[in-house]
Amino acid sequence: MKQVSRAAWNAAPPTGTYTRVASTRGVKIHYTGGPVPADIAGPKKHKLCVQLVHQIQQMHMSGGRGEKYIDFGYNLACCPHGYVFIGRGAHHLPAANGPGLNSQHYAVLALVGDSGFTKPNDTMLHALRDAIEYLRDKGDAGNEIKGHRDGYATSCPGGPLYAWVKAGAPRPDKPMEKPIRVVYKDSVPVWPGRVIKLDDPYMQGNDVHAWQYKLKKRGWTIDVDGIYGPQSKAVCASYQEKVALKPTGVIDEETWDITWSWKPPAK
Ligand SMILES: [Zn+2]
Ligand SMILES: [Zn+2]
Repeated sequence: MKQVSRAAWNAAPPTGTYTRVASTRGVKIHYTGGPVPADIAGPKKHKLCVQLVHQIQQMHMSGGRGEKYIDFGYNLACCPHGYVFIGRGAHHLPAANGPGLNSQHYAVLALVGDSGFTKPNDTMLHALRDAIEYLRDKGDAGNEIKGHRDGYATSCPGGPLYAWVKAGAPRPDKPMEKPIRVVYKDSVPVWPGRVIKLDDPYMQGNDVHAWQYKLKKRGWTIDVDGIYGPQSKAVCASYQEKVALKPTGVIDEETWDITWSWKPPAK
């Protein structure tokens, strides 16, 4: 299995202790339930997969599904480049199957959406099989393979993926193509995928926290509280001026990257 470790996708640490599950009846397959970029399966687009997994974790942990989850809700997530992202991992209770349904099946997310990229490619189906086999091997999952909609009122995992599940989740005949090579920049955390700015209620939490922490380490007076308020905006604008960017007070991708990669000029 071609795995993406939690460190490689810049996972925030869980905010609580996982509940252990000794074994399950099997695995339930999920989709994102939202839009996924139509071109995500492109050879140079794996960065979008990393961003999406990261965003879903942020959403889950900030209460986007009702209660605040302690972590990404799924045990594993599979992308169209054949990679399997480690979420909660084996022997940990997922949070994605619905109330009362989490101890019976592990939850595996496929990065397909309800718009944009809606049909899994063969490479993703190989990754899903890898994920299922991993959970059988490492997590004592039983033989059942079901969809989120089995036993819960939801469209998840979407028509095309559910049809594959109903067909017994077969591994495609052709072997997986040689996976693209990926280099993770471990020095710069994954760009959250959308700008961080004042009065954007979505932009609270781990990304803001990480950015504030880095700015404080860089010597700025800033509260590290995970909320992008007026003080953070002012610090952002000053920092942008210092590194010769336009002082907008909005953290865009360039500002995000340079927060970690900027080096003081040599004297
Ligand atoms: Zn689901
Ligand atoms: Zn990918």
